[in-house]
Amino acid sequence: MNFRSLRFRMTAWYAGLLVGALLAFGVSVYLGLEGYLDWTLQAMLASECRTIGTELLSQLPGKNRGWLETEINEAYAPEVNARFIRVNRERMGVIYISRAPKDGAFDPSQIPSPGGRNDGARRIRLENGQQLLINAMRFTTPDGSQFLVESGIPYQRIQVVLHGLLLTLAIYTPFVVFLAIGGGYWLMRRSLRPVDEITERAEGITSSNLSERLPVIRTGDELERLSVALNRMIARLEDAFQHINRFSADASHELRTPLTILQLELEGIVNNHSLSGSLEEQIVSALEETHRMSRIVESLLTISRLDAGEAKLDRSRLDLSGLATSTADEMRVLAQEKSILLRTSTEENVCVQGDRTRLQQVIANLMDNAIKYTQEGGAVEVSVQNQGGKAVLEVVDNGVGIPATAIGHVFERFYRVDKARSRASGGAGLGLSIAKSICGAHSGEISVSSEEGRGSCFRVELPLSAICDSTEPATLLRKVTP
Ligand code: ADP
Repeated sequence: MNFRSLRFRMTAWYAGLLVGALLAFGVSVYLGLEGYLDWTLQAMLASECRTIGTELLSQLPGKNRGWLETEINEAYAPEVNARFIRVNRERMGVIYISRAPKDGAFDPSQIPSPGGRNDGARRIRLENGQQLLINAMRFTTPDGSQFLVESGIPYQRIQVVLHGLLLTLAIYTPFVVFLAIGGGYWLMRRSLRPVDEITERAEGITSSNLSERLPVIRTGDELERLSVALNRMIARLEDAFQHINRFSADASHELRTPLTILQLELEGIVNNHSLSGSLEEQIVSALEETHRMSRIVESLLTISRLDAGEAKLDRSRLDLSGLATSTADEMRVLAQEKSILLRTSTEENVCVQGDRTRLQQVIANLMDNAIKYTQEGGAVEVSVQNQGGKAVLEVVDNGVGIPATAIGHVFERFYRVDKARSRASGGAGLGLSIAKSICGAHSGEISVSSEEGRGSCFRVELPLSAICDSTEPATLLRKVTP
């Protein structure tokens, strides 16, 4: 798990806030309930004192203490209900005190009398650690006698309820927090899914498909603004790229005519004048260089037009296997010159929608390179297959291979691994750039894997065309030509 991810941090914040809110809620419920129960007990005790004072003590002049004891015991059963009741008569002392409760929670005789201020509720702590809530009330009967009535109850009654509440909170809070964290994480994942989608699409946008745009989810929020802003940025990049491509195309186009004139004039000089040996040599060499320059300018023009989407592609449904086989046949002479074994291995009816001449240029270029960069007696294999719904063409050789540091650059314009050797063999480092641009124009891809000293494999993937021109059903039969 990535602890620095937005998803984790948001979930952690959410969980933290939730735990804080639950704690605050728990504390306030606890304190609120404690206050309410305390108030209710006090009200009950006060009502008892009042009943004893007004209903029993007022009759006392005509009755004796035994009567009072019986009345109180019958009405409140203090022994059974663990209650404390004490009646004090001024100057006479205690005239009634309840017996110790059956559970032995407290000893009534040990309970001190209230001090100076007699009225009201108080909480006293007993020797056994228990607390007793006692309410005291003063009464004066019509005959002028003064009484102090006390009624008490163990505070434990409230504590039992509060402990129950604490236990409930302790059991359910982690459960609720756990559920909320799980839910929060899931929600976070859901709400960040559009970001994943945008990232995935943005990853797939390169200089070759700058016309693509990111998905815009019309929610009017930050995500919509982000994707709209990124799309505007991609549009600006597309403009800039097209500007560069157009510039290269225009420059190449402008250079074409003067180069052709130069070539014709040099050819005219060589053909129509009798020149001295060294001068002829120099002019022939200059002519060769202009031919080279023309090829470079043509290649640059092709790449720029393909990249700018301005090159006209003469698309038709064509059999890639057939095209690879026929191109290999044409290249066979070159291979034989170096005693290289050229093999083709093709599946039947692997068809694509494309420009025959351009795709042939790609295959010829890859094979030419394979033959060029393979030592005498080596082997080159061209294969065409239908792989996972894609037409896959591979040119594999067991030649010099490409150093790991150069692999990432071979499709760049003018890149050559071994400058001296490539130039000697006529290469300007544009062949693979053209191949890449042609594949891009066909919505395909070209890639390479290679190991220095062991050989290379160039792989072209093109979208498969649904139906081939051929009437034969598609088969997986492999045709191998040595
Ligand atoms: P060039 O016209 O110089 O061959 P490319 O664009 O076709 O230019 O190739 C670029 C570079 O990639 C070459 O200079 C060469 O070093 C390397 N390369 C291409 N194909 C192969 C191959 N089959 N084996 C080894 N190196 C290769």
